[in-house]
Amino acid sequence: MKILLASSEVVPFSKTGGLADVCGALPVTLGPLGHEVIVFTPSHRGCYDKGVVIEPTGINLQIPIADRIVAGTLAKTHLPGSNVTVYLVEQADYFDRPGLYGDQNGEFKDNCERFTFFCRAVLESIRLLEWKPDLIHANDWQTGLIPTLLKVEYGDNPLYENISSLITIHNLAYQGSFWYEDLELTGIDWKYYNWQYMESYGNLNLLKSGLVFSDAINTVSPTYATEIQGIEQGCGLDGLLLERRNDLSGILNGIDVVEWNPETDSHLPFNFSADTVIEGKRNCKTDLQRQFKLYENERTPLIGIVGRLAAQKGWSLILPVMRKWLASLDVQWIVLGTGDAEYHRVLESLHRSYPDKFGLNLGFSNQQAHRIEAGADMFVMPSQYEPCGLNQMYSMAYGTIPVVRQTGGLADTVVDATPAAIENRTANGFSFTDFTPAALESTLSRAIDMYHTRGDVWQQLVQTGMRRDWSWTASARQYVDLYQRIITRTRQAHQA
Ligand code: ADP
Repeated sequence: MKILLASSEVVPFSKTGGLADVCGALPVTLGPLGHEVIVFTPSHRGCYDKGVVIEPTGINLQIPIADRIVAGTLAKTHLPGSNVTVYLVEQADYFDRPGLYGDQNGEFKDNCERFTFFCRAVLESIRLLEWKPDLIHANDWQTGLIPTLLKVEYGDNPLYENISSLITIHNLAYQGSFWYEDLELTGIDWKYYNWQYMESYGNLNLLKSGLVFSDAINTVSPTYATEIQGIEQGCGLDGLLLERRNDLSGILNGIDVVEWNPETDSHLPFNFSADTVIEGKRNCKTDLQRQFKLYENERTPLIGIVGRLAAQKGWSLILPVMRKWLASLDVQWIVLGTGDAEYHRVLESLHRSYPDKFGLNLGFSNQQAHRIEAGADMFVMPSQYEPCGLNQMYSMAYGTIPVVRQTGGLADTVVDATPAAIENRTANGFSFTDFTPAALESTLSRAIDMYHTRGDVWQQLVQTGMRRDWSWTASARQYVDLYQRIITRTRQAHQA
């Protein structure tokens, strides 16, 4: 199959979140499975400094934006460690900026225009490169106009005949919602500006548009695919997603097992495997306690948290439990994260009160993220919603026991240590359902209790997590099956 994957961010060229990890890793895994994948992404500032050679193609783009023509160019490179071609869509006014979607003043005001340009550039490149894919894989709202334009504008052009489309939702909360007048920028007829197509709650909605016009939709875990069809997690698009449920599926993300492998991880002071995990983790834990100036005691349970300081991640559950436990229990905490100012303030104050029990870094540090995953005994992630989540998988690969809320990808990866799951050796962590501090506290208490009194079962959970294959291979196979199904269906529909 020939697959064109379009994404507003792709590792190593640009990244703000998991979207970039997926779009950098999935194409590399599809190659060896016998498929040709070409990736398109904007040339955001900094993409030229990633140590990958980028060459001009000499291809010029002339893209209609409202009643103007905006010029751009295509540059060519590849994903490191593979022969996957990447085309960077160059347009300095739009993409040579300090942030991908905004700066310290908030979101860029012309985001609709910027990503209209990108989507049109991708479709025009098919003609200019004379490379016709079987399927275009769009990702999130930034590429929602690709399936849209493919249907409403390019549909009659023989060059684009039979190209199927898939859109992946990485986080439904981000929808690319714009003032309705922005529709003019896209060049799409006003007849599509209604609740059935591109309008949502009085705004132009680019994700909705992509969901309406794509041949199929998927998201990054099976449970999230179900949850978003309901009002609680549907972010206003649940009705549409429910209607399209037969075209909607979920495929779990994998992790980059080259970067996240405790046996070879150069960020760690000590490397270890499933066979040497007890000693390896003990050493990493002591090192972590030292680095964060916590009192050194290998029997004191150490709870790690890495991630955005955002309400989504369940801080309204974590903070009350931390406050109570720091005052009363022999349990240590380490938090690495940045985000909402209010959480920064509360965490700083707790850190000042309990400096030898609570380590804090309100910054971004990849090295420390690796060290926390390796040195902590438990990793806490009580998310309100979680499309997939990577940290719980990193934790398990590093022999750290996840304590999570059963939602989205967390529900699909963490098996709670119930007596039955311990008995049949599937348990790999702890989980709960109620979004309350009490539910988190009782689940963490269960974990701490097992840590102190059932070392044998604890080690069984560690081994179950470490020995599972978290790599992209299984997920990439599921994407191949999905692509194949969509292509077959589109062609049959076309012939009918
Ligand atoms: P989300 O995409 O919702 O932020 P995920 O768990 O899917 O959550 O992915 C978050 C990624 O970002 C992980 O790779 C995590 O280690 C990393 N990360 C988040 N915050 C930090 C930080 N402060 N320092 C280092 N890495 C971080």
